[in-house]
Amino acid sequence: MSALLEVSGLQVAFGELRAVRGVSLTVGKGQTLAVVGESGSGKSITSLAVMGLLPAQARVVEGEISLDGVNLLDLAPEELRRLRGEELAMIFQDPLSALNPSLTVGYQIAEVFRRRRGASRAVATGRAVEAMAEVGIPDAAERAKAYPHEFSGGMRQRVMIAMALALEPRLLIADEPTTALDVTVQAQILRLLRERQRAGLAMIIISHDLGVVARTAQSVVVMYAGQAVESGTVAEVYGTPAHPYTLGLMAASPSARTGRRGIRPIDGNPPDLTALPSGCAFHPRCPFARERCRTETPALRPLPSGRTSACHFAEEVLAHDRAAGA
Ligand code: SF4
Ligand code: MG
Repeated sequence: MSALLEVSGLQVAFGELRAVRGVSLTVGKGQTLAVVGESGSGKSITSLAVMGLLPAQARVVEGEISLDGVNLLDLAPEELRRLRGEELAMIFQDPLSALNPSLTVGYQIAEVFRRRRGASRAVATGRAVEAMAEVGIPDAAERAKAYPHEFSGGMRQRVMIAMALALEPRLLIADEPTTALDVTVQAQILRLLRERQRAGLAMIIISHDLGVVARTAQSVVVMYAGQAVESGTVAEVYGTPAHPYTLGLMAASPSARTGRRGIRPIDGNPPDLTALPSGCAFHPRCPFARERCRTETPALRPLPSGRTSACHFAEEVLAHDRAAGA
């Protein structure tokens, strides 16, 4: 598998606060990687850094983000702007906030072709209608004349996908793409994304919903308090979590359908990033914690078969999980 995107040692700071503390991840060509974790774990900030769309107060203080061997952090803003859309695109949980309420949907999609492809108004409008039809919006020529508020949540997300894919990017970052949608519509959007995956689109899917991840991704990175705490294939990580936090996420998620019994959801809340616990940041919530965890920060380390865990006692967690009877 050759890498399309490689993020290594990424650190993002908001002033003194480290929101992302050394995250590495790889997305192969045509592959889908999921990033999971509670809110505030740094998943969205990591993806905004990849897009070059960090908020003004945030900056990358360390690390590399390379797309096909080119370090995006070295690019001039206008080069990065060109890559966005052409190579990288992103969709969000709330499409309404990303659309202009006072312009028709067809006009907004057509603008992409006008600005980026120099298409005439007539050609751009035609291509916008095609793009809408491709993502399954019925009666696209008519619907192109409607405004964002006249669409349902699911149809609006289709509009965003049409706009994101208009210039045929190679990597789509989907940040909680189905979280605001009801279950039926969610299934439709996931089906649409899977069609695009089969056509060769690589994706990063950011989600707190382990069921969504299981249905879309091959590999997964679990984040906690700005760090990756476990990574591996979805089959491995779901089958036998190697970090207590992942075990807790599984137990808290009915949609993961792991069939595990006797594992309790995680108590407590994610830590305040300005006052991280000593040692392992997860120790106040960890049922496996012992003295060493309070003093020694665990590094993300490789386990057999290429997966990783940032737990001093990963082997014990694996053994416990097997004993608990997955
Ligand atoms: Fe729990 Fe210790 Fe592992 Fe951290 S290092 S996850 S506190 S057992
Ligand atoms: Mg988020």
